[in-house]
Amino acid sequence: MINESALTSRPITGVMMNYFHVCHTELWYFSHDVEMEHTSDLVHLGRLVHEESYERDTKEILLFDNIRLDRITPDGLIHEVKKSDRAEAAHVWQLKYYLYLLRDQELGDLKGVLEFPTQRRRIVVELAAEDIKITEEKLEHIRRIIAMPQPPKAKKIPFCRQCSYRELCWG
Ligand code: SF4
Repeated sequence: MINESALTSRPITGVMMNYFHVCHTELWYFSHDVEMEHTSDLVHLGRLVHEESYERDTKEILLFDNIRLDRITPDGLIHEVKKSDRAEAAHVWQLKYYLYLLRDQELGDLKGVLEFPTQRRRIVVELAAEDIKITEEKLEHIRRIIAMPQPPKAKKIPFCRQCSYRELCWG
């Protein structure tokens, strides 16, 4: 049995911030350690894209024990590699959240780069002053969702087709 107070005090990861923008039910399942990702071919494809695109120069960086950054290059860019730009806003906020976490670390003027190798696209992401308050509001909302005793009611969205929790929601 998962301890609820332990769940709500758990640090919010970048993946949680990402799922918050895609589906609150997905966020709840993920935060409660319901992990079914191995069942998703698309997740596997995502890993392959990541590994094949950056095999040589990737250095993953573990931040605060629970945030895994794809890589930081000497020019102060935090790189985050994604298989698709379909959930672009979610990816942007995930990266903004990393910049938010790093803003007090005296690492200089960091920026993020979202990379979509299969689409040959990259987007530069910055944390604007107003994003700090917005991020804190999002974190508060995420904590409220995680604290729910049951997952939020599932709503059918295009992402359901490739979601690893689809059997739980619609099976
Ligand atoms: S299947 Fe759909 S509703 Fe269920 S968690 Fe995934 S995205 Fe959300």
